[in-house]
Amino acid sequence: MKTMVYPGSFDPITLGHLDIIKRASKMADKLIVTVMYNPEKNCYFSVDERIEMIKKCTKNIKNVEVDCFSGLMVDYMKKVGATAAVRGLRAVTDFEYELQWATFNQMLDDEFEAVFLMANTEHSFLSSSIVREIGQLGGNIKKMVSPEIYDYVNDKLNKNGIKE
Ligand code: ADP
Repeated sequence: MKTMVYPGSFDPITLGHLDIIKRASKMADKLIVTVMYNPEKNCYFSVDERIEMIKKCTKNIKNVEVDCFSGLMVDYMKKVGATAAVRGLRAVTDFEYELQWATFNQMLDDEFEAVFLMANTEHSFLSSSIVREIGQLGGNIKKMVSPEIYDYVNDKLNKNGIKE
């Protein structure tokens, strides 16, 4: 059984992430979408909230599981028996970061493999930070997040206002 993981912050999950999940789920028997928990990174949504949102958006994709982890990606992949990590590439700027990320993971574990999927042109501008920024300013984020989580994300961003 081929298991792949898609790690990320998903703060919150966007339609761009979801497109990658749909496409990657066809490349594996099981795709684990896993929320990277980094205590040093100040995320807007809690890990539980992010997991819940991903679950809602992926409920119709049979071979997708949702999880979270902190620590080394290579250790996590060994633990869940994953053969590759999926990442999305939006622009050249993503490429530089992703290349560095894949290279140091390869240095940590010779067997580490990464699969990069090009962002759909429709979502190539989209990031979680843009969703947060526009939502907090009261802008319309309907075309950026899945309908299953739209109300929740919108309410939370509007209610909390801009976090310094
Ligand atoms: P971000 O905060 O930049 O959205 P994440 O850590 O949640 O970042 O992203 C996880 C992975 O998904 C990364 O490989 C990132 O490049 C990719 N990704 C993020 N947004 C998109 C998008 N709109 N289209 C395709 N891939 C994306």
